[in-house]
Amino acid sequence: MAQTHIHDTLIVGAGFTGLGAAIKLKKSGVDDIVIVERADDVGGTWRDNTYPGVACDIPTMLYSFSFARNPAWSRMYPSGGEIRDHIRDLTDQHDLRRLIRFGTEVTGLSFAEDTGVWTATTNGRRKICARTVVLASGPLADHSLPDIRGIETYKGTKIHSASWNHDFDVTGKRIGVIGTGASAVQLVPELVKDAAFVKVFQRTPGWVLPRPDVGIPDSVQQLFAKVPAAQELTRQALFWGHEACAAALVWNTPLTGLVSALGRAHLRLRIKDKWLRRQLTPDFTPGCKRMLISNDYYTALQKENCKLIDWPIATLSPAGIRTSDGIEHHLDAIVFATGYDVHLSGPPFPVTGLGGRSLQQDWAAHAEAHKSASVHGYPNLFLMTGPNSGPGHNSLLVYIEGQIDYAVAGITTILAQNLRYLDVRADVQRRYNAAIQQRLTKTTWMSGCSSWYLTADGFNASMYPGLATQYLRQMRQFRFDDYAAVAHGAHVRAVSSTA
Ligand code: NAP
Repeated sequence: MAQTHIHDTLIVGAGFTGLGAAIKLKKSGVDDIVIVERADDVGGTWRDNTYPGVACDIPTMLYSFSFARNPAWSRMYPSGGEIRDHIRDLTDQHDLRRLIRFGTEVTGLSFAEDTGVWTATTNGRRKICARTVVLASGPLADHSLPDIRGIETYKGTKIHSASWNHDFDVTGKRIGVIGTGASAVQLVPELVKDAAFVKVFQRTPGWVLPRPDVGIPDSVQQLFAKVPAAQELTRQALFWGHEACAAALVWNTPLTGLVSALGRAHLRLRIKDKWLRRQLTPDFTPGCKRMLISNDYYTALQKENCKLIDWPIATLSPAGIRTSDGIEHHLDAIVFATGYDVHLSGPPFPVTGLGGRSLQQDWAAHAEAHKSASVHGYPNLFLMTGPNSGPGHNSLLVYIEGQIDYAVAGITTILAQNLRYLDVRADVQRRYNAAIQQRLTKTTWMSGCSSWYLTADGFNASMYPGLATQYLRQMRQFRFDDYAAVAHGAHVRAVSSTA
């Protein structure tokens, strides 16, 4: 029987993160990489989200990798399509397509202690084996329609924002939008342009700030192409500008009050009607839920053909949505901008570690990892966007870059020292998480609102309670002595190294 090849690294997911990890691993001399991707294209969430108006709400000069610059961004906040194209370009520029197995979905991952090899089972019958794994399947990869009473009875078209139905023409149609989060504020202004009317069903009003979007002139793009330092300087300015926002959004300080004042001023400036203003006024601390960034959401809500409805939804009916004031809203389509099935308790497939332990079981109560990247009992496995790695004030891509550098340091250590495995110590992981949870108590995310950052029992396994600078500093240090290292023969002595 043919022996299964054992790759150096298996990367799960060909979104921004998985591709970034592959680029950095290749630069570090790790060539035997296989990337599995369940879809037939790269791009992850930026491939899947194609709703009208999809764009980034962080400037893309910061929402991109510092090691894979694009001098040709057309705007500060480009469209989702432009980001998708950039990800495809990255893939081709770094010759990554040959590493990717498209249409391959991982159905399970298990670690063999005696050989130090991870085996992935996939939707095909083939197994993929690797010494190390980078889990880059993303926290917002899956979505489903919400469990709203009567949803199965509705006879019109149901569209989730994360899998837009481009065959459905909204022109002249009666549209309902459920949800008023980051996706909704982008798509509502587009829908009102063509629909007969749009009714926006709001459960909780969010804080909306204007988006300082400008086009980037050709001359500036040429400058960035010729003088990379100019683009790096801009990126640094954006980074520190966002970093300063932590003082208002991560912790509740007098500056948080300034953000509420700004939000209220934006509301007063844009919304003339007093009652609508009251309906749109948030009642939670800014930063507790993700800030909404939009120049046209408030304007769209005041269009003749748009109406904000804040009566709770009682049920969906065959004709539309019935709210608890007894009104039935007849609709041709309902857009569910209701968010994702966030994987707070592990990836959506079983992961089996040392001694047959299950990550889903270990994380059943609460997910935790060391520095968001390594989990005790699951050696040679590096998580991307793992527990407590999310930012509330800066670009996720900045954090992901730190995670990639950490994983590359771990993987190159395992390969260079020919270790059977490297398993983060339980005491190290416990101490790290005790400190994280202690620091989280002082953050805005724990100030009482409900958000997808928290589990049903209010545990925060999503956000990093600090500055991006602090996160990056910890990720730069790959401490060998935080791990139990097992050679193919015996234990090896612990030493420190810098990522
Ligand atoms: P979201 O932020 O989770 O918002 C979901 C919305 O749907 C909320 O308004 C929520 O109300 C409402 N909702 C959920 N279930 C409902 C129900 N059963 N009945 C009535 N209303 C319901 O989802 P999202 O807007 O898709 O954004 C998710 C994440 O994606 C964001 O936090 C962000 O990380 C990412 N995103 C990023 C960008 C970007 O530009 N970078 C753009 C879009 C999304 P409640 O607030 O009351 O729960």
